[in-house]
Formats: sequence, structure tokens, C-alpha cells
Amino acid sequence: MAKVLIVEDEEMLARTLADKLRGDGYTAITAHDGEEGLEKIREEKPDLIVLDIMLPRLDGLSLCRLVRRDPATAHIPIIMLTARGTEVDKIVGLESGADDYVVKPLALGEFLARVRAVMRRAPGRLAMLDELSSNDIRLSLTGRRMFKDDREIKLSNKEFDLLAELMRNKGVVLSRDLILTKLWGHDYFVEKRTVDVHIRWLREKIEDDPSEPRRIVTVRGVGYRFEG
Ligand code: CA
Repeated sequence: MAKVLIVEDEEMLARTLADKLRGDGYTAITAHDGEEGLEKIREEKPDLIVLDIMLPRLDGLSLCRLVRRDPATAHIPIIMLTARGTEVDKIVGLESGADDYVVKPLALGEFLARVRAVMRRAPGRLAMLDELSSNDIRLSLTGRRMFKDDREIKLSNKEFDLLAELMRNKGVVLSRDLILTKLWGHDYFVEKRTVDVHIRWLREKIEDDPSEPRRIVTVRGVGYRFEG
């Protein structure tokens, strides 16, 4: 049974989410401030963390960064909760290492769907989800193959990783910094322009008209978003 830790200072909400998760077969535990959250993450080793941003003692973004920096916890998927649903918050959250976002006030059905989705693609559970697809594009993750209209299109390793990252975050803007860190790590010799170059190569392979991209759109001054 997968264990979910909910770090949320609004106790009513924490209890409601925990009950909902238990009803869906998860083990749910709660923490009500950032420091208690960090302790429970280290002691309980949850399979998933649901993390509020505005928390007493240690805020959610800082906690998220600490979790990502510690090799013992870096792999644990994180869903952020925020009352502020602006695009900028989403980007900051994703850059601090969150896997997904739920905006408050949240619909419980949607919350559960996000939890299931994040758990499916979590490391170690990847084998359960071998495929990513959107319209006529299909990725076989274990085979590292890409199909468009059921015809295989050869991608380089980086192009494949980039497309997978974009597709996993369909509808969400990924900044060039985030893409750079996820795909190249902290390699000082790689410039942001490298991301743009790979996006261009990818568009040539997957867009019907690469000069007017519809699948991977540019969000000026921010980054790129996969539309479908
Ligand atoms: Ca809060």
C-alpha cells in the first residue's frame, strides 16, 4: 500500500485529503508545519508528498528543495498545493522540484486523479506506465521509441527525453532553466540556447508545420509548453 504524507497547516483540509486517500486505498499521514513535514519525510519515507506552499516554520518551496537535495528523499514525487494559481507560482514550484500542482480550493476528484497520475509515473513504478501518448504521438518509454501516426520517427536521446518531459507536463509551461537542469543537470558548458536548438529539431520531427508550431508552443520570455 502506497504511503502519502500530507503537509498542510489547515487541519480540516489535511484531514479531508487524508480521508479521501484512505478511501482510495492509500496509507495517509499528515504534518501541520514544514519542520514536522521534514521530520516525517525522513522517518516515514512516504511514496508521495502532498505539500502546501504557505506553511509555518518552513515554507513548502524550501521544504521541496531540501527533499530534492537529499539523495535519500530526492526521488519522492511531490504534488504542491497552492491557493495562488498563477502561472509564475506553477513555474517556481516546478523549478523547486515539484512533480505536479493542484490549486486550492481543490476538487477532491481532481486531487485524487493527480495523485494517481503522479504515482503512476514515479520512479520505480515507471514500468507500469510504459507509454505516453497525445493525439497521434506515442512514446514507448522503456523502448525509447517515438511513433507519429503509427510510423516510427527516430529521435536522438536528448530529443526523446525532452519530448517525454514536455508530454508529462502537458499544458504546463516549462522554463528553459528547468528543462536545462532536468536534461543536462548542472553542466556549466550548456547554454540556454541549447534548449531552443533541441526544441527546433524536435519541432521539425513532430510538427505538421515546424514554422507554425501547434504542439510545442513558445511562451515568450518563459519557456515552452506541450499542447498536444
Ligand atoms: Ca497553508
